[in-house]
Amino acid sequence: MIVSIDRKKVKLLKDCIFCKIVRNEIPSYTIYEDDVVKAFLDISQGTPGHTLVIPKKHIANIFEYDPELAAAVFSRIPKIARAVKDSNPDIKGMNILNNNGQVAYQSVFHSHFHLVPRYTNHDDFSMTFKDNSNKYTPDDLKKIQDSIVAHIGD
Ligand code: AMP
Ligand code: ZN
Repeated sequence: MIVSIDRKKVKLLKDCIFCKIVRNEIPSYTIYEDDVVKAFLDISQGTPGHTLVIPKKHIANIFEYDPELAAAVFSRIPKIARAVKDSNPDIKGMNILNNNGQVAYQSVFHSHFHLVPRYTNHDDFSMTFKDNSNKYTPDDLKKIQDSIVAHIGD
């Protein structure tokens, strides 16, 4: 049983497109890398300069980070974001987003952070969520709060 799990993991690492980019088996427009992360242009270029920052270690999503890896990856994002911003005086802002799970629009299951430079309010990028505040009573919100608080771990 343990053997078959290991084989599955080996296959996953071998097939994962971002692991292949980390190993330079497929090309990327890399803008930064060190022992922890690699940052490269997203092939879709939602807006010019759209960049992905990924941990070199294969983990699928945010739920799999331990505090050390999270600290190491997140600590590198501001300097990469600054480099992207400083690369073009027309960049006025930036959305940073991280999709987790197919339902949340994740399509590559190796954790990554999108750095999406913003030039105008009408770029080829948008983000919407509805304001449902009128559907919740204070009691509803308290129940949601309590159930999340009960699951905060170390
Ligand atoms: P997500 O939908 O959040 O999982 O984002 C995955 C992103 O990976 C998409 O924006 C793709 O354009 C990008 N992508 C997929 N393959 C490559 C590749 N070979 N090089 C660069 N970006 C890629
Ligand atoms: Zn991977």
